[in-house]
Amino acid sequence: MQEEIASHARDISRALGGKVSEKEIENELNNYLNVYRVSLDTAKRSIVRKHGGDPTGLQLGVSKTIKELIPGEQSVDMLCRIVSVDGRQIDVEGGAKDILYGILGDQTGTVPFTAWVVEGLDLHKGDVVRVRNAYTKEFRGQVQVNFGNRTTLAKESADALPPYEPGKGSVPRGPPTPMKVVDLKEGSSNVSLIVRVLDVEKREVQVNGDAKTVFSGTFADETGKVKFSAWKDFSISPSDTLKIEGGYVKAWRGIPQFSFDERSAVSKLEASTLPTVEELEKSPRVWIEDLAERGGAIDVVVRGIVIDIKEGSGLVYRCPECKRVLRKMACRIHGEVQGTPDLRVKAVVDDGSGALIAVLGKELTEGLLGKTLEACITEAKENMSQEVVRDQLADLLVAQPVEVRGNVTSDDYGLMMIVDGAKILKVDVEQEARAMLEELEGLEDTA
Ligand SMILES: [Zn+2]
Repeated sequence: MQEEIASHARDISRALGGKVSEKEIENELNNYLNVYRVSLDTAKRSIVRKHGGDPTGLQLGVSKTIKELIPGEQSVDMLCRIVSVDGRQIDVEGGAKDILYGILGDQTGTVPFTAWVVEGLDLHKGDVVRVRNAYTKEFRGQVQVNFGNRTTLAKESADALPPYEPGKGSVPRGPPTPMKVVDLKEGSSNVSLIVRVLDVEKREVQVNGDAKTVFSGTFADETGKVKFSAWKDFSISPSDTLKIEGGYVKAWRGIPQFSFDERSAVSKLEASTLPTVEELEKSPRVWIEDLAERGGAIDVVVRGIVIDIKEGSGLVYRCPECKRVLRKMACRIHGEVQGTPDLRVKAVVDDGSGALIAVLGKELTEGLLGKTLEACITEAKENMSQEVVRDQLADLLVAQPVEVRGNVTSDDYGLMMIVDGAKILKVDVEQEARAMLEELEGLEDTA
């Protein structure tokens, strides 16, 4: 494995034009794999991005068996057999396009594939091919392999791979990694989780006439909550305590989400394994640094100091069509429109470990200001300025300790909390300082 890590470190270094040493990258890669427990593919791409490089410059894919595939992998290498292959035309912009589709197999299982570029591709049933730089997606709970522009295929001799036997033979993926909800990050795979079901609903989804059932809802343990999707009926009911082995994590709308399917094992545990539903419903307090590392979370509490009130806070006018906040009474998309008034706060909250933008809607903003939207409109008219409301919010909030609760999303611009609850903390600063001093003195006494 270490030798393999070294060759992937070399690949990353090459993609970065050699500006970071292979040794340094190797350490980083080990950290991502062993401490953060993300997949090799995700780790490689994250490291390249972190150093300002372009992940498409990576050349060495991660070699996997079909059973090891998870959705969202960008460069996968595989040795597999074409179990079936078929062609068809699809409608695209500017005419029709030929694609190939079918089933790939190896000794661990089968997976559907689509080849989006067919020029020069000569695939026949029974061929054994070495695939480089394929990518995977999830399609209604199932992993799919895609061959794109960067994918190369080379034929191997028929005996390079054991024959495919339907339903037979599977290589174990190794024991799943036990995790707490707080540890779940995008790209984590083969995870073992002990959780209680807070809510679950059954949904039917339709694609190309195929009905598929998905069970989705919220799980919790003593460290937090996470949304889940189960792509098989495991007869999950609210308040069940479950052990799930073989799940994986991917981001959905900027928040990590736990998924599992027919490859996972689900068992019911004694209710006493975890705290009660009532206990678990409470929102845990978290550090912003941890949210950044996890890539967002649902229903968490952050305490920090408001260090800025962003532009676009206070009394704003929204486009009646698309709800975007107007600038100079014009919508970016719909031009000059008659705006609808609204109140909101975009506050930068810093807890010492990091910062996030907390977005508060009308009701919470009215609560903080102690007055209604209508009162704010009147005041703005009297002062001939919309800014008066933002100034009041700044006076009220900047440099104040606050507690905010809500869902936190993560994207290229950072962390954003859509706030469900907020309060200004009445912290007795003097008393806190005294308590801290006493604690320090106490430590000195025992030293
Ligand atoms: Zn608009």
